[in-house]
Amino acid sequence: MKLIFLGPPGAGKGTLAAKALEILKVPHISTGNIFRAAIAAKSPLGLKVKDILDSGKLVDDETTTGLVKERLSQDDAQKGYILDGFPRTIPQAEALAVFSAVDKVVNFDIPNDSVLERLGGRRTCRKCGYNFHQVFDKPKQEGICDHCGGEVYTRDDDKPDAISKRLEVYRAQTAPLIGFYRERNLLVDVDARPAVDQVVENFKKSLHISS
Ligand code: AMP
Repeated sequence: MKLIFLGPPGAGKGTLAAKALEILKVPHISTGNIFRAAIAAKSPLGLKVKDILDSGKLVDDETTTGLVKERLSQDDAQKGYILDGFPRTIPQAEALAVFSAVDKVVNFDIPNDSVLERLGGRRTCRKCGYNFHQVFDKPKQEGICDHCGGEVYTRDDDKPDAISKRLEVYRAQTAPLIGFYRERNLLVDVDARPAVDQVVENFKKSLHISS
């Protein structure tokens, strides 16, 4: 199954993708994770996008689309994928439609207050990208990832100024994708407010997945 996960930052797309890939057995492709890995590796891509990510703005469409096109051409993505954080603009969605046909677009519905609470408390593993929360889902040992032993830190773009910028960018540039995909009969809404296990159930029900 070829899926796009759409929703504001903090809606839980990454967390749900980690669960959904166990069910669907398709790769989880997060453009944010790809950019953060490039920054950690200090690669040319990483050097180019570091300041953009730190400020909460978007990387240009050409760079991002090129990256996703290349990733989707790899063998493991032929049967399906979960795209998390891409597309984020109408031009990205139009470009994607040319090189891959998605089956469904899952829209994670969540009010602003919940997003602010989640992002403000989010702590991320530098190595595997797993998202913890300083109140609701703490790592067993402070600062260390339960899953891979990596360092758990606060992303620069999860700091207050960048959070407001990201939400503004989401509303202006990404939210129009809801209408774009609804018109094409691809959109499925999932209530993202409950705890993660319930969101997984909502997700399975919306996509008629029985396992
Ligand atoms: P995320 O982890 O999805 O919240 O992404 C973190 C940051 O990576 C975003 O705030 C953007 O700076 C950048 N980014 C991720 N995906 C995209 C995209 N599809 N288009 C442009 N920038 C992106």
